[in-house]
Amino acid sequence: MIEGKEWCTGCMACKNICPVQAIGQALDGYGFVVPTVDSDRCTHCGKCEAVCPLTKMDREKEKPKEILPLKAYAMYHRSKTVVASSSSGGAFYALSANVLKRGGIVFGCYYDITQKKAYLADTDQLPLESLLTSKYVESYIGFGFQKIKSQLDTGREVLFCGTPCQAAGLCSFLPKEYENLLVTDFTCGAVSAQVCLSDYLSSLERRFRSKLTAVQFRDKHYGWGQYCFQAEFENKKLYRKTAMSDPYFFCFLRSSMQRLSCHGCLFSACHFSDLVLSDFWKCDFFDVDRNDRHGISLALAMTKKGQQALEEAREQMHTEELDVKEAAYNLKIRSCPKEKRQEIFHDQSFVAKYGVAALRRELLSPRKRLYYAVRQFVMDHPILAAHFPGIVGNGQIMK
Ligand SMILES: Cc1cc2nc3c(=O)[nH]c(=O)nc-3n(C[C@H](O)[C@H](O)[C@H](O)COP(=O)(O)OP(=O)(O)OC[C@H]3O[C@@H](n4cnc5c(N)ncnc54)[C@H](O)[C@@H]3O)c2cc1C
Repeated sequence: MIEGKEWCTGCMACKNICPVQAIGQALDGYGFVVPTVDSDRCTHCGKCEAVCPLTKMDREKEKPKEILPLKAYAMYHRSKTVVASSSSGGAFYALSANVLKRGGIVFGCYYDITQKKAYLADTDQLPLESLLTSKYVESYIGFGFQKIKSQLDTGREVLFCGTPCQAAGLCSFLPKEYENLLVTDFTCGAVSAQVCLSDYLSSLERRFRSKLTAVQFRDKHYGWGQYCFQAEFENKKLYRKTAMSDPYFFCFLRSSMQRLSCHGCLFSACHFSDLVLSDFWKCDFFDVDRNDRHGISLALAMTKKGQQALEEAREQMHTEELDVKEAAYNLKIRSCPKEKRQEIFHDQSFVAKYGVAALRRELLSPRKRLYYAVRQFVMDHPILAAHFPGIVGNGQIMK
């Protein structure tokens, strides 16, 4: 049965394959998307079970093998605007621009601020710029895989970028290997539930007495080294906080709001994609140009097709080739002990009851909260920040 799988990632390959549209989607008790089966419509054809990437991997029997990338690059885009509006160095933008130049189509995650919803969108609907940057929340696939297949069948070039589990879902859903498809995923820590984020954003709207007009999960005002959440409002007010000071970001990074299946995720260790992108956090350990900390991507080519796409993207980017064995540090499986998983679930119920800000208060001692408040204050005042580099850490105010 496709319903109620403990490790379901919500990739929705089952919903896309069902020939009688018997599979819908609902939210589980913690706000994560899961498939539901309409038993009146279901013909028990078994296609949903067969397409599930978890069935294909068989959790217990087949442990993922370590696969080394073919090539590894540190790269950042030549355009400062692209780097500023991307999470790391803008590798995704460069890859997409090449596909669009040839009349292709790009599928990626879009955060719709009016609906407060993250979902799979494409460049026929929206400009490429709206797909850029990481959204730290689960994104809905809907019937997106069917749309990708119909584009592929016309012979059009397609680039898909999503989480490793979504990439696995897409590859499993497609009936054959398509030459005109490039699958990109990224090193994915985890995702949180959309309800947590939308509740939190609504609380910000109440606090600022205005509607939100934009959110940015990877604002680089404090430099690339600092995760920073920024929200803009109709009344022109701006909310900007580093991850440790922002309740949503803090709870997300502290695992407290993450999807259960993200812990022990098989697809973060065994990618189905042609390319894996990451923030090159470990650039200090390599002899590379660090882009003055404005953002640098680590791009790993997992297939020949991925390698070719990266070679082509290099024209738009500053790149340095890396030793594949050393650069593969980011392809590690993440697993989480059972007790920790229970703790996470406790936190999820807490969020549902009291909200994200209350969870942050519970997780942090008053002393730590004071420390982060002072740190945020110092970072917001460049003169103070220049005097206390220890407090600012690896953040650096963007010029
Ligand atoms: C939830 C999440 C967790 C991550 N965790 C890590 C990590 O632990 N370590 C690390 O090194 N890198 C992580 N990354 C990847 C990193 O933040 C960058 O996405 C990557 O470096 C590519 O950057 P870029 O500048 O090339 O592209 P970007 O312009 O940042 O775009 C990358 C593309 O990712 C896709 N995307 C964004 N958000 C989502 C989403 N919620 N669901 C599906 N697809 C999405 C979109 O299609 C987007 O266009 C994570 C990304 C996400 C979304």
